[in-house]
Amino acid sequence: MLKKLACLSTLVLLAAGAASAQEQVVNLYSARHYSTDEALYSNFTKATGIKVNRVDADDAGILARLKAEGAASPADVILLVDAARLYKGEVEGLFQPLKSKTLEAAIPAQYRGKPTADGSTPWFGFSTRARVIVYDKVKVKKEDVDTYEELGDPKNKGKVCLRSGSHPYNLSLFGAVTEHLGEAKAEAWLKGIVDNMARAPKGGDTDQIKAVASGECAIAVSNSYYIARLIRSTNPEDKAVMEKVGVVFPNQASWGTHLNIAGGAMAKNAKNPANAVKFLEYLASTEAQNYFANGNNEWPVAKGVSVSNAALQSISGGSFNAETIPLAAVGANQTKVQQMLDRVGFK
Ligand code: FE
Repeated sequence: MLKKLACLSTLVLLAAGAASAQEQVVNLYSARHYSTDEALYSNFTKATGIKVNRVDADDAGILARLKAEGAASPADVILLVDAARLYKGEVEGLFQPLKSKTLEAAIPAQYRGKPTADGSTPWFGFSTRARVIVYDKVKVKKEDVDTYEELGDPKNKGKVCLRSGSHPYNLSLFGAVTEHLGEAKAEAWLKGIVDNMARAPKGGDTDQIKAVASGECAIAVSNSYYIARLIRSTNPEDKAVMEKVGVVFPNQASWGTHLNIAGGAMAKNAKNPANAVKFLEYLASTEAQNYFANGNNEWPVAKGVSVSNAALQSISGGSFNAETIPLAAVGANQTKVQQMLDRVGFK
């Protein structure tokens, strides 16, 4: 009897908890899964009293779930990685563009979605990552891989390892190169990369770095945070990998290294839109930028915020020239890029 009573009171407590939580919550669908994000969420709750309910899934899973849920979706805020995916969410109508003086002041225009007719912004970038070239320090000279164009140069035949061309990280890089070179030259370049491949595309960015270290290929492409992760790893195998490979931030003498973002948006059918805006604005604060960017070895996007990260420092040399084209334009190129990939046989 006593036991039954205890169970009942637990139920009552749970119900009360659910009821009060309904008043001040923000429902987050996140493609981020970094342990440092926990501190980010608990600090937001401490500062605002708004509880963060989180659903973790990968980017494709989140976009599919939002579509399936439609108007009934409980999602208020969506966090995704890569401009190609943010653009996809935007054109599929899954976001609710918003106006926020705080976000517009903090986030440079090149890292935001293209404004709608009434001046609202569909999505905001909160951290940047560079897409860099990794090479075998013994077999390859740095000056033969210090531009993206050289990935497709015949001098590098049989040396290049890449993940799938259709992965958003590559769609965005290729979309950026298309902005710089124009379609015809970009397609010829992609054909050159296919001709230079050491093997068919497979695996993730870390697998490409390891393939260079193992000698399977001599040149690869990776996001900067995967390299920083290997540098910071305590695993001796990871340390051995990083001893064999060099890292170059491409196109320093021309348009700059390609940068991508992790970012966020308000969900189209947000049930707590005011809390969603508060949460997104919080992500642009100095405190949140530190957790958000540094937690995954990325650079903060908000103006005036800098972090010191020894691993990033060691590969970038402290500062580097980054591309300045708007990521909205890069995202918008992805259908075109996919068609070029199909034409040149880039899997
Ligand atoms: Fe990644």
